[in-house]
Amino acid sequence: MYYPEPITKLIDSFTKLPGIGPKTAARLAFFVLEMEEDDVLDFAKSLVNAKRELTHCSTCGHITDQDPCSICSDESRDGTVICVVQDPKDVIAMEKMKDFQGKYHVLHGTISPMEGIGPEDINVSTLIERLKDEQVEELILATNPNVEGEATAMYISRLVKPSGIRLSRIAHGLPVGGDLEYADEVTLSKALEGRRDL
Ligand SMILES: [Zn+2]
Repeated sequence: MYYPEPITKLIDSFTKLPGIGPKTAARLAFFVLEMEEDDVLDFAKSLVNAKRELTHCSTCGHITDQDPCSICSDESRDGTVICVVQDPKDVIAMEKMKDFQGKYHVLHGTISPMEGIGPEDINVSTLIERLKDEQVEELILATNPNVEGEATAMYISRLVKPSGIRLSRIAHGLPVGGDLEYADEVTLSKALEGRRDL
């Protein structure tokens, strides 16, 4: 044991974050020790509050502190178009672009037979319910352009096709294998504009 226990625990906590190895975790832990106590308390409170106060919108699955979320309850948005994304971060990327005025549905993952993730493990059943209850005319499938994203888009399109709802897939302006959340706003806007019907 090189470190006193409290700092070992702190380092362990940092290593649980994505992209943080033991070295970076140690650097962050020592940085925290040098911070003002008030800033450390604020940081700890933000972590706990974000976890406690945020929930998933029961309609679209996006993260929210009110249910339904501000997007679902916004009457000025076009409820006839739903953009289906993998992750809440994708909704935020789309919202930053400001071009999309429809609503969203967050799947919280993709179908991945390799990892044993099937359709029942992602937020598809509530999407099908929405299509029955809401006046939806178009579903834009904006899952990432990689194997899992394509497989998920295909699965949903096969499921929804018989209903006659227009289905489209976001264009390949996005780099193949790239993540929606990292696309810049122009690329994302072009990908949306150039979507093709399925
Ligand atoms: Zn919502």
